[in-house]
Amino acid sequence: RVVTRFAPSPTGFLHIGGARTALFNWLYARRHGGKMLLRIEDTDRERSTEAAVTAIIEGLDWLGLSADEPWVSQFERAARHREVAEEMVRRGGAYYCYASQAELEEMREKAKAEKRPPRYDGRWRDRDPSEAPEGVKPVIRLRAPLDGETLVADRVQGDVRFPNKDLDDLVLLRSDGTPTYMLAVVVDDHDMDVTHVIRGDDHLTNAARQTLIYEAMGWDVPVMAHIPLIHGADGAKLSKRHGALGVEAYRAMGYLPQGLRNYLARLGWSHGDDEIMSIEQMISWFDIDDVNRGASRFDFAKLEAVNGHWMRAASDDELTDALMVEREHLPNGGILKRRDDETVRRMLLEAMPGLKERAKTLVELTDSAAYLFADRPLPLEEKAEAILAGGGREIIAGLLPALSDVGEWTAAQLETVVRDYAEARDIKLGKAAQPLRAALTGRSTSPGVFDVLAVLGRDEALARLKDQSA
Ligand code: GLU
Repeated sequence: RVVTRFAPSPTGFLHIGGARTALFNWLYARRHGGKMLLRIEDTDRERSTEAAVTAIIEGLDWLGLSADEPWVSQFERAARHREVAEEMVRRGGAYYCYASQAELEEMREKAKAEKRPPRYDGRWRDRDPSEAPEGVKPVIRLRAPLDGETLVADRVQGDVRFPNKDLDDLVLLRSDGTPTYMLAVVVDDHDMDVTHVIRGDDHLTNAARQTLIYEAMGWDVPVMAHIPLIHGADGAKLSKRHGALGVEAYRAMGYLPQGLRNYLARLGWSHGDDEIMSIEQMISWFDIDDVNRGASRFDFAKLEAVNGHWMRAASDDELTDALMVEREHLPNGGILKRRDDETVRRMLLEAMPGLKERAKTLVELTDSAAYLFADRPLPLEEKAEAILAGGGREIIAGLLPALSDVGEWTAAQLETVVRDYAEARDIKLGKAAQPLRAALTGRSTSPGVFDVLAVLGRDEALARLKDQSA
């Protein structure tokens, strides 16, 4: 039975790289009928915040990647970590070290002078604790093997060998009794029955050290898969400018969860040439062995294209629902609160066929829906003003009587009236439609103008036209 876990440190939002790690863990678990657990690595009390925990869980929920069990706090398991460290001492796999700060500093200085990485020299490895100086609280260190090598048989990176002489006797338990990250991760993964550790390849060296801890306890080492980091489009390390943002920032940019999820899945993993994948397809196709070894590049244009696909694939109902939910998160979402929810929903649904044609994100969709809820008199964009000033207001004045007399306020009826008007005066339909659009939406582009008229309703549409009539 496959058990994966996502183990973020709650020091910020759910980062885009973290979201992809969570996705791979989630997909792998689903693919094998297993489960994904969420462990919040909150042992760093200074940097961990409750707000970050909330943001991580909300981000996962929004992406549809919720964990299969209530989340576990690593901090709350500190007593268990201590117990294991002490057990390891009893088994001979670890020892108490009483080296003082001054001694450690001396070792660091020496390494610096010899131009080699600092490393603990093992001075308490074989000393008897009865020799311990008085009043010094010891740390517990791993008794790491001195020679040979440690193999990390990684499912993405392949077999990676670490000479043991490079892995020093790392601290497992600090002198204040708190566990180090290295110990806590191993104990938690073991206790949570984690079978597969899928995480960023910045943890690859840690995997070797952790392997030594597993071995010291006689525990099975889980399958390891270290996935390459995400780089920017230019190949450099991902920075804010490249898209190194929290998931909530993508939400605010108006991406659909299914769009972002699809894009993230393709970041470092592929299935033939398939770009667009439903969640079911991802589950049935995902395999950790197919994850690329090289870094992937974050590409906003591609994200937008993938999201655009999911926007077009969504039904009018789904998009309306998405707008109603996401408006809280969209910078321009306030406009969707200008009327009561029922009215907003009804108008969005009615206008949706015309609105969704061009929009690649919910922000764009909201933007093109803004005219529906704008207050009169409408602010006019420059081009719209030019259309109205260049004879448009006279055309509106000419059309108003006929429009006011329309019996049934439907797109088809309204089109007939405007066509008749244009024909009678021997002008092109567009010549009549353009000023209408400008007056009704304040813009020079919009969904079909007869739909716009219909969706606005007789009273609002006529009032907007009167505002601009010569
Ligand atoms: N908490 C670690 C991090 O945020 C991840 C540890 C792990 O996945 O083993 O990078």
